[in-house]
Amino acid sequence: MAFVAQVTGDGMDFIDLKTQYRRLREPINRRIQAVLDHGQFVLGAEVEELEERLAEFVGANHCISVSSGTDALLIALMALDIGPGDEVITTPFTFIATAEAIALLGATPVFVDIDRRTYNIDPGLIERAVTERTRAIMPVSLYGQCADFDRINGIGKRHGIAVIEDAAQSLGATYKERYSCALSSLAAASFYPSKPLGCYGEGGAVFAEDENLARMARELRVHGQDRNYHHVRVGLNGRMATLQAAILLAKLDVFEDELDARQEVAQRYGALIEEAFADCAPERVVRSPYVEPHNRSVFAQFTIEVPNRPAVREFMSSRDIPTAVHYPVPLHRQPAYAAGDAGRQFPIAEAVARRVISLPMHAYLNEEDQHRVVTVLRDAVMRA
Ligand SMILES: *Cc1c(COP(=O)(O)O)cnc(C)c1O
Repeated sequence: MAFVAQVTGDGMDFIDLKTQYRRLREPINRRIQAVLDHGQFVLGAEVEELEERLAEFVGANHCISVSSGTDALLIALMALDIGPGDEVITTPFTFIATAEAIALLGATPVFVDIDRRTYNIDPGLIERAVTERTRAIMPVSLYGQCADFDRINGIGKRHGIAVIEDAAQSLGATYKERYSCALSSLAAASFYPSKPLGCYGEGGAVFAEDENLARMARELRVHGQDRNYHHVRVGLNGRMATLQAAILLAKLDVFEDELDARQEVAQRYGALIEEAFADCAPERVVRSPYVEPHNRSVFAQFTIEVPNRPAVREFMSSRDIPTAVHYPVPLHRQPAYAAGDAGRQFPIAEAVARRVISLPMHAYLNEEDQHRVVTVLRDAVMRA
């Protein structure tokens, strides 16, 4: 999801940030102006305010804002002192940053195949991937739906290994009434503009249960210092800009409302798709997202499965309906990551990667546009 799809002519946005800005223009501008006036562009008061609000929102003990979701993953792993020789279990069906953070530290991402319905890591396959080198499990709460944390935390506990949620797509999601980012020892969120809660640049956050890990994350984000010019560990420049925190504070005020709107949009898509494909031959039926009854997804993406994807996408594009593929190539097939897992196969991730497309999805998508998307989708599938 590392892009914001561009507007095609005056057509539909894949993710419409302009309507949201029209709604929030005043509070956002006011918040930005306040930062310009006080001039604390790094670690200004807004940063702390945001951290407190986010920790409270998800029910986590600690929130440490950082420069991106990727840096949040990196800092979470560094707080656990993960490095060369260590293994981290994760999913091959995710954005590259998940495995990248592991590999950047010299550790090895060990992939485990996904659940066919939720697309999240299959907890039933994790245990056989645990070795004496395993230091952490990093499930991704993909498309905005939490992974199965009760089972994953259970495995973590049995083997004494940490669980880090890649929550880059799931802030605001719930799992058994508890919020994403507060389901395991550490979590990493992203505020990339196209995420459900997005800033106007780069931003992320680490969430921690444990005070010690939170302190380490705080130190790591400022060059590993525990006080000015005193460096107790090797860290990085990982701070969130105050301007981004200010923008997020304005957006956070309407976030719950937007989450409700996203539910409505997703439900409407589901109903429209069911209706549009009701009389179709089985091989032409489109598969809507499956959400576990104990989950509330934030639908960071509304991702469906279609037959003959290239033709479907091409036809939809010709009718000015933007689509995206999250993700076309599972990570064990990426040139930079293929070596470690040579010969291992992840048939479900492979099958799903060939079939998924994401439809336009945001809190401001109106009924008329959704009708158009599904009508064109139906035409596209019938021709494909
Ligand atoms: C977006 C994303 C990231 C990276 O977040 P950035 O803020 O873009 O660095 C990591 N993991 C997943 C699953 C993502 O979708």
